[in-house]
Amino acid sequence: MCVLDCGVYKTGKGECVKLIFCRLCQHVYSLSYDKHTCMCGETWGYYLHDGLHAVYGGANAVPLGFLNDSFVKAVADQPEENARGVRFEAFVIPTKCDTMTLEE
Ligand SMILES: [Zn+2]
Repeated sequence: MCVLDCGVYKTGKGECVKLIFCRLCQHVYSLSYDKHTCMCGETWGYYLHDGLHAVYGGANAVPLGFLNDSFVKAVADQPEENARGVRFEAFVIPTKCDTMTLEE
């Protein structure tokens, strides 16, 4: 497994889920193969056919990544009550990233 400088896993699609955060409406949404937009319509994004590369747009779009292993484990370990929530690893993807391209 190899991690790019931007933190996105290069091999094996699906090891990192890409999301978009909109600075205007605060909407966080995951990408799919269909183009999705945030609630205010300012930002958008979608995966290319390889499931690894993605494109997004909007001056207020901030790309995010969830590490799958970390997220799946946190969901599985969800406490029932009176406990701290389970953390998982997420990160802000840099503006210049080989697998996440901002279209102006
Ligand atoms: Zn928005």
